[in-house]
Amino acid sequence: MYPRLRINLAHLRRNVQTLSRLCAQHGIRMTGVTKVFRGDPVIADILVQGGISMLGDSRVANLRRLEGIPAEKWLIRPPMLSETKELVRFGDASLNSEIEVIRAIDREALRQGRRHMIILMADLGDIREGYVDYGELLAAARETAGMRGAELYGLGVNLTCFSFVQPDTEKMAELCALAQRISDAVGFSLPVVSGGNSATIDLMLRGGIPEGINNLRLGESVLFGKERAKYQFLPDTFHDVFTLECEIVELKEKPSLPWGQIGVDSYGNRPSLVDRGPHRLKAVCALGKQDFDAETTLPLDPGILMLGASSDHLMLDLTDSKRSYHVGDSVALQLGYFSTMRAFTSDYVEKVYEDQL
Ligand SMILES: *Cc1c(COP(=O)(O)O)cnc(C)c1O
Repeated sequence: MYPRLRINLAHLRRNVQTLSRLCAQHGIRMTGVTKVFRGDPVIADILVQGGISMLGDSRVANLRRLEGIPAEKWLIRPPMLSETKELVRFGDASLNSEIEVIRAIDREALRQGRRHMIILMADLGDIREGYVDYGELLAAARETAGMRGAELYGLGVNLTCFSFVQPDTEKMAELCALAQRISDAVGFSLPVVSGGNSATIDLMLRGGIPEGINNLRLGESVLFGKERAKYQFLPDTFHDVFTLECEIVELKEKPSLPWGQIGVDSYGNRPSLVDRGPHRLKAVCALGKQDFDAETTLPLDPGILMLGASSDHLMLDLTDSKRSYHVGDSVALQLGYFSTMRAFTSDYVEKVYEDQL
């Protein structure tokens, strides 16, 4: 059945090994981030078998899918006040920036007879989640440290996700200093000081992470072998863990330019089209924006041009390919971050696991 997402577990295993080794060399423990693959337990199991003992996801529904996997589970998006019950049931820890929510987690944890560990987030410039008022952060830490259901577990930061502010040694030192102030205030040292996501890998490899930081939350680097600051592939990693295959449903010679009066697309933009001549071999594939993201996808066949997609049609130009294609043939696409995420979220995409190098 097409569309079909092929997941290469052997290649993923190699990536886990490589990232684990690099992190260990720099005194960093890794939390494997599972949101790209929707908390799929088969894939999460590869991470855990590879020695990753903490998993993070941005959705409680995904933590629930990970229920049978033996790892410490973190919710890595600030929890909704309305989901504290499920959070405490399916998660062991969460990243937080609202004391009101932490109080609700504390109450719920006491009710369920469980403990829930709180990692407070500092915003060091990316303007996404986290405290910008460090007095407020310190007060939250003090209050959390006195709770009996919730437990103060650490301090974290997230960068390069909204404003694309890059991590540097100064910001990491600032995080360490904040962690130290919190430790002094509560009277014990924080078990977790989490210096960010795959965007911090480059700094780590350059030896720029101060000693006080002991954790990174990694998704993209493990799954795609790509660090997120310079956006370069890492040595000893595979970049093709996820491949999407779709089927050609129409194949015809058509001109490169449309004819008729041109209007705007669903975003209100006028399409810009390149004139490649009147005779091009065009394919329509049964795949659309519901299933993948055209901007973060590349055809594996270098002779194929991706022209664009609508919700259920993918338009390709096959003219320059060395292969000859027919209606009913499949075309393979290499997926990046958002495309993979969407393929996992689409019920229309069949998931197939493979396990060979
Ligand atoms: C998504 C996310 C991560 C993982 O980011 P990658 O760039 O995929 O490594 C880490 N932390 C938080 C808070 C996130 O939302």
